[in-house]
Amino acid sequence: MSSALSAVPSDASQIPADATFADLGLPPALEAAISDLGFTIPSAIQSQAVPALLSGRDIVGVAQTGTGKTAAFGLPLLAAIDYDLPAVQAVVLTPTRELAMQVADAIQSFATHLPGLNVLAVYGGSPFLPQQRALSRGAQVVVGTPGRVLDHLDRRTLKMDNVRFLVLDEADEMLRMGFAEDVDKVLSAAPRERQVALFSATMPPQIRRVAEQHLNRPVEITVSRQASTVTSVRQTYAVVPHRHKTGALARVLAVSPADAAIVFVRTRGAAEEVGSALIERGISAAYISGDVAQTEREKIVDRLRTGALDVLVATDVAARGLDVDRIGLVVNFDVPREPETYVHRIGRTGRAGREGEALSFVTPSEQSRLRQIERTTRQSLLQVDIPSPAEVSAHRVQTLLARTGARAELDRLDLYREAIAVHLAQNPDVDPFELLAVVTALAVGDEGPVAVQHGDDLDDALSRAHLTGGSNDRGDRPERGERRRSDTHVAGGSPRWRVAVGHRDGLQPGALVGALTGEGGLTGKDVGKIDIFGSFALVDIPAGLSADVIDRLARTRVAGRPLRIRLDAGPRPGHGASRPTHGPARGRS
Ligand code: ADP
Ligand code: MG
Repeated sequence: MSSALSAVPSDASQIPADATFADLGLPPALEAAISDLGFTIPSAIQSQAVPALLSGRDIVGVAQTGTGKTAAFGLPLLAAIDYDLPAVQAVVLTPTRELAMQVADAIQSFATHLPGLNVLAVYGGSPFLPQQRALSRGAQVVVGTPGRVLDHLDRRTLKMDNVRFLVLDEADEMLRMGFAEDVDKVLSAAPRERQVALFSATMPPQIRRVAEQHLNRPVEITVSRQASTVTSVRQTYAVVPHRHKTGALARVLAVSPADAAIVFVRTRGAAEEVGSALIERGISAAYISGDVAQTEREKIVDRLRTGALDVLVATDVAARGLDVDRIGLVVNFDVPREPETYVHRIGRTGRAGREGEALSFVTPSEQSRLRQIERTTRQSLLQVDIPSPAEVSAHRVQTLLARTGARAELDRLDLYREAIAVHLAQNPDVDPFELLAVVTALAVGDEGPVAVQHGDDLDDALSRAHLTGGSNDRGDRPERGERRRSDTHVAGGSPRWRVAVGHRDGLQPGALVGALTGEGGLTGKDVGKIDIFGSFALVDIPAGLSADVIDRLARTRVAGRPLRIRLDAGPRPGHGASRPTHGPARGRS
């Protein structure tokens, strides 16, 4: 093995920049598969790792997501396998089940010209028996999470005797997830005569230790970030105050040309909140976090892949390694705390040589984090504006009008022509052009932007848009417009608010104050007198509530019921909403 040392390039300067896959020394069957997949130029990590691994060396590869690591180890791994031997010869460890399946699929796709080759993914949370059967049928490549691979070893359903190739994919993530000991055991169970490829986005001391202990004088390959495929991602940011993020997101999604988008949030709660807000606005969205069951998660990712779903709101853990070509936009709803996380996130777009955009929302106080990200990625982020309600409407009209040609082609318009002729005959004052504008507005489905003067301050512009009833970020639902209108009452200073939870639900004043100061972001001082009735309660909030707070609180649950906060209509006849009653009150709103 060591005889190859001098022949192995260990730094990028020795690799011809215009190397092709044909220069890497791969067997013809693998070259053919690569060409079927449409890969022509090897990525930086591939052009360095493939020759090193083919020559028998161990490697340590430091590379970000999206740099093409799977082929970098998958191709030499397949080249090392004896297809006539029905025994496990290569083991790939990955941090998650999703990643195990993805890597197994990718390796299988490299093996299309190798008929006898079987790749098996093994992971926790699914039954042992089918995995065991596939193993006994002679799978040669096993891709799995460390825990499940170890389980199979312990049960002797997986034997390492013939293993000659081991891969640790996303090693830093595996250690972060607490797999250090399992990884160690799996490596120790492998024969001494074997090759190991270790990949990691970062090189903390624990990974160095693993490399020192288990790898044999590895070739170190570091791919700089500029060389990663991330360069096909346009990186932008917008300054958005926290309370306007959801509205801003809806507008961004409304005008984005991307087929599909991923929205990253920091917490499980935020995933649910943002995801539900988008769904409520009629956007084809779903949310996942680390605690969503795997099968559910796979279903969602599959729907995203097939186009049944357009927007996925996810936490970092949940979206780890997700590889869906349709994703043309990544939105960082929250700026990640670590620049590394940022790089992982934006690697979800710009896949397979496509163009992508990564937009980060930063609050005014977070702008220093941007500089940190720019330093890490060595790229600068371009500031962009959140589209205004008018721009969203304009975009919707353009999209609608762009479809008219094809629709006209189809014809079958007689019914509509007649209806319009009748309508115009009955309403001689109506100008046909005006009518067309009205019908277009109805088809677009929003209320049309109110003329808003634009200030320099985005915050200012956004809040004005909220208060003037520019409803575009609200989606198409008329009842949202209703709520918006009630919001304008805030300016009139009416301070009583009504929530649809009361004595009957076991509401305690403390729980209501908790929701208002927690989810609502108010301070204790903002909350005045509280009166609790049978099925509702009234609360004084002298300073009023912004549309966003109302929005958030509308979905907040207290005593198990949605708050549905709204401005109280007052004790008018027929409304009866705020009449104190102690019996069952009328009409839960
Ligand atoms: P990583 O594991 O480094 O995140 P992947 O191996 O998942 O990266 O590859 C990222 C994407 O790039 C995949 O969609 C893959 O098919 C594609 N890809 C990898 N290598 C090449 C290449 N040489 N040419 C074109 N596309 C590639
Ligand atoms: Mg990978």
